[in-house]
Amino acid sequence: MSNTAALYIVATPIGNLEDLSPRAARILSSVNLIAAEDTRTSRKLLVHFGIGTPMISLHEHNEREQLSGLLARLQQGQSIALISDAGTPLISDPGYHLVRAARAAGIAVVPVPGPCAAITALSVAGLPSDRFAFEGFPPAKSAARRACFGRLAAEPRTLIFYESPHRIIDSLADMTAEFGAAREAMVARELTKKFETLRAGPLGVLADWIARAETPRQGEFVVLVHGAEARAAAPALPEAERVLKLLTAELPTRQAVDLAVGITGLPRNTLYKLALAHKSR
Ligand code: SAM
Repeated sequence: MSNTAALYIVATPIGNLEDLSPRAARILSSVNLIAAEDTRTSRKLLVHFGIGTPMISLHEHNEREQLSGLLARLQQGQSIALISDAGTPLISDPGYHLVRAARAAGIAVVPVPGPCAAITALSVAGLPSDRFAFEGFPPAKSAARRACFGRLAAEPRTLIFYESPHRIIDSLADMTAEFGAAREAMVARELTKKFETLRAGPLGVLADWIARAETPRQGEFVVLVHGAEARAAAPALPEAERVLKLLTAELPTRQAVDLAVGITGLPRNTLYKLALAHKSR
């Protein structure tokens, strides 16, 4: 079926092998070559499914060098599947340069969707999911990480981070410092695996929990943080009156009201009435 030249971007399980889709298994069996992030890791998956397709390694350090060879094969009519160690390729994983080059060369790039830790965690977090921002791995060094969280402190969308077991304690402490201890969050550990742990609560509580000696910290983590609440309400009426008073002293009423709407965020009607009341005093 997959003998026409195409680059298949195939999602693989993030833990539970039952999450490999039948379509993914079929594509992986039928392509000419599988480009895998770590061929030893992927071999276990392929052996489990009885897939004997040859593999080549494609990781973040050799992706650019492998590009021309892979493109040449695609241009000769071969089909290639890209997989990463777990989940969806390109999502905090290699593949971006290959996909871009293949598309630029007019080669079909075909998605074979499946697990992704960020989306899996979001689907069970009970945090707003209509809009979210995937932030990948935060910086490794504390100063850069604090600065990164500081820039995100006012972001209204749910934030999703990947984090390694070595940094999860420090990262949660830095999130608590920058987003506030009361900000609602969730830690999702070892999703779809035997020791899957989902823990929701205020960031301060989660940071204390993760720092406790008895809390298991090995494994893989996704951290989700509720977005910032809407900015403080528009200025109260006394402030709007002060602004209007200054503006109407210098400008025609209509223009003063226009500017006051922009400055205070209050409805035009309200400001117009205030301006008229002020003039008739
Ligand atoms: N491409 C993958 C995906 O689609 O989710 C992500 C690859 S990234 C290199 C690996 C990170 O994803 C881990 O450090 C962890 O933050 C997260 N992750 C992957 N599998 C996970 C799992 N089963 N449970 C929790 N987090 C996981």
